[in-house]
Amino acid sequence: MEPEVMEAEPKVTKSKLNLPEWALENNIYILSGIELVAYKIWNESHWMVKTNRCNMCGKCCMNLSEGQMAPILQGRCMYLLDQGDGRWICQLGPHRPVACSIVTFSGEHASRIIPECVERFEEQ
Ligand code: SF4
Ligand code: SF4
Repeated sequence: MEPEVMEAEPKVTKSKLNLPEWALENNIYILSGIELVAYKIWNESHWMVKTNRCNMCGKCCMNLSEGQMAPILQGRCMYLLDQGDGRWICQLGPHRPVACSIVTFSGEHASRIIPECVERFEEQ
């Protein structure tokens, strides 16, 4: 069964931050809980803001190579739990590795392209 595509929230909140200059020497990530909302790559002037959310297809926790932070069995992270309705969740919940939250799987900054990934970020 294919998981449903979650619609992006139509409501947005504008926020303005005065960030210290030293922080801009690194990538900056904004999380809502464990979900990446926006990020800025250190040498770019724009932010990338989430416009479409994860639908829990689980593909980013499958077909993994050995040597990851989490234990892998037959290519799949052992913390990945099948919900039986097309969705997969991480058993670690809020304790999952930060890297699992900040990696993107589509678009220009994706470190691993996953064609099925529905998460989208747009330049602002
Ligand atoms: S720890 Fe959780 S989010 Fe990270 S790869 Fe494993 S199942 Fe996926
Ligand atoms: S591949 Fe994309 S849509 Fe699927 S679980 Fe990972 S982040 Fe979510």
